[in-house]
Amino acid sequence: MPVVMKGSEVSAGMKPVLLAELEELKARGINPALGVVRVGGRPDDLAYERGITKRFASLGLTVKVHELPEDISQAGFNAAFRDINGDKDIHGILLFRPLPEGLSDDYARHEINPRKDADCMSPENEAGVFSGNPDSFAPCTASGVMAMLNHYGYALEGLNVAIIGRSMVVGRPLAMMMLGANATVTVCHTRTRNLAEICRNADVIIAAAGKARMITPEYVSERSIIVDVGINVDAEGNLCGDVDYENVAPVVRAVSPVPGGAGAVTTSILARNVLKAAKLLA
Ligand code: NAD
Repeated sequence: MPVVMKGSEVSAGMKPVLLAELEELKARGINPALGVVRVGGRPDDLAYERGITKRFASLGLTVKVHELPEDISQAGFNAAFRDINGDKDIHGILLFRPLPEGLSDDYARHEINPRKDADCMSPENEAGVFSGNPDSFAPCTASGVMAMLNHYGYALEGLNVAIIGRSMVVGRPLAMMMLGANATVTVCHTRTRNLAEICRNADVIIAAAGKARMITPEYVSERSIIVDVGINVDAEGNLCGDVDYENVAPVVRAVSPVPGGAGAVTTSILARNVLKAAKLLA
């Protein structure tokens, strides 16, 4: 049977460290707080927000939600973002993206204080991920994948990794982080040829395509370690990942489920980043 990499176990492992850091900051009179900026009420934003609120409450961390109307003007959005960015009582900022049609996140990306940029949307932090700057912030999802592999003791040095997906929030930053950990990385996408063969020959597969159950047994081998980042809804309305879990799990070395896998680590990483931001700003 495979090792099932559970997000709850990774988060439980991180909790004592986060609580100790929080205690230290509170002893210095700092009350770390996350500012969530949400425009409108998209169901997936609301679901993530509930997850954040729950995780932060369990740690004793403050969350301030700034809900802006869906029909807000660009100038109104920029002004609201400027105020939140300038608020000394907010240490980390998470802006739900994409913004509603017609609104641009350009101003927010370029104006956010890089030290408050808890989910890496600024060009400065993106560059930091590429150069491996330890003071920069990486996207929470990509960091969560690294934390999961680390928790289960899979050192990446010398391993071949196939990442499926090249987005700026998952695939690309993760490729840089894995290179930093001395893995040999192949970044795959919709135009990749022989995807199944590339994956089958890899030691580690990161599925971040957003395609329900596309990773079937022909993509894997008995030494595959698979982190499933995908969040999809299948034809029957069930939440599922990019991995055909039922058929793949029995034949691989390790795999993360959906739900309950990588997604459940993201909010703990966000908390870790808010604590880091509070320290950088102090
Ligand atoms: P995206 O749509 O921006 O990027 C998807 C990438 O996958 C693209 O680079 C595309 O080339 C590639 N791709 C798509 N279909 C493919 C195929 N059939 N073969 C090979 N490559 C293919 O998506 P994203 O924002 O990077 O998110 C990816 C998935 O991860 C989605 O399911 C999303 O819901 C999920 N996600 C999860 C979390 C989390 O916390 N777990 C966070 C962000 C995104």
